[in-house]
Amino acid sequence: MAKGIDYSKARYADQGKLMSAQIPVAVQKLMRPSAAALEPYDPAFSPVEVNLSANENSFGLPDGLREAVARSLAKAPTNRYPLPLAPSVREILSEMYGVGPEHIICGNGGDELLFNLFVAFGGAGHTVLHCPPDFSVYDLYAGLLECDLQEISRDPQTFDVDEKALIAASSEATLTVVTSPNNPTGNVISHDLVVRLCEACPGLVLIDEAYMEFADTGSSCVDLLQTYDNLVVLRTLSKAYALAGVRLGYMLASPGVISALAAVRQPYSISVLDQTAAKAVLERREELGRTLEQIKEGRSRLYSELQGLSSKGLEVWPSQANFLLVRLPHAHEVRCQLRDDFSVLVRDFSSAPGLKDCLRLTVGTPQDNERLIDGFRQILEG
Ligand SMILES: *Cc1c(COP(=O)(O)O)cnc(C)c1O
Repeated sequence: MAKGIDYSKARYADQGKLMSAQIPVAVQKLMRPSAAALEPYDPAFSPVEVNLSANENSFGLPDGLREAVARSLAKAPTNRYPLPLAPSVREILSEMYGVGPEHIICGNGGDELLFNLFVAFGGAGHTVLHCPPDFSVYDLYAGLLECDLQEISRDPQTFDVDEKALIAASSEATLTVVTSPNNPTGNVISHDLVVRLCEACPGLVLIDEAYMEFADTGSSCVDLLQTYDNLVVLRTLSKAYALAGVRLGYMLASPGVISALAAVRQPYSISVLDQTAAKAVLERREELGRTLEQIKEGRSRLYSELQGLSSKGLEVWPSQANFLLVRLPHAHEVRCQLRDDFSVLVRDFSSAPGLKDCLRLTVGTPQDNERLIDGFRQILEG
């Protein structure tokens, strides 16, 4: 754990109290109705030795990169406001993707960009279409910003999207959102489907590629940005780049869409420290290659070990991301046992719609994975 931030039990307890505090009715009455219904987001963290609940990169930055970040941060001009559009980060991304900077916008994490997208293109009378089970944030923001929400559910067994129904519905949508690889199911959508969506949808098509660095080459749809002005691709440094704590995400889109996003954003949301750290890591990104390979190796190994537990009623889906989705009897209890007896935290989806008895397991370091599988074995076989 990083020094300087208090991850102690007492701190978690404080945070838990704050998270579970209901908004008093008298305050709710003063609020925007769509906001009054909400509760503070609780990532359900608890103090454990092995946190495999948030799809972070458990390896952290390799030493050389960490030192490069530290050197850059030491010189960062923290007395000055940051440059609003993070031009030095945008410039590197522009080289990486071979597109002009006018096709790129950075945000305080991908989440802020999603929020801004819903601010700019959502609202009453604007239909947001998505394919649950997927990332819960879409629902949250669409609700808060009073969009009309439409859902085309995935197949309950394979989690494939219903392509025909999705294409048909997208012809009425202002914003069609598909996550690829999908969180929490791990599957990607085909290039061909993205093409058909861009052609069918009169509005924007957002492909959320937060986990694309872990997928097979050729899975991304960024090449389609050349052809489709209504395509938006989301990426983040929170997962593969081991910078969840830094908060930097970006969107790739046509210059018109980028201008709309630039118009609604909070000008100084990406701090000098965020921009400095992101630049240092992107400049030396090849140093992350080994870690990415290790995560993919860990994923296949964990996958086959979990398959070995199928006689105990455990089912696991293939994944192109840095996590695996499993379904097993008494998932909620197993999750608590993993936490309390093995100090391993995984994400509980057991009561989420379409995900009955499912848990999401982030692929960690070899030792993390070992501890996780050992826990499963003891709980299920013991
Ligand atoms: C993690 C994640 C994001 C963005 O995360 P940030 O930390 O805000 O960059 C976006 N979409 C999905 C599906 C994710 O899982």
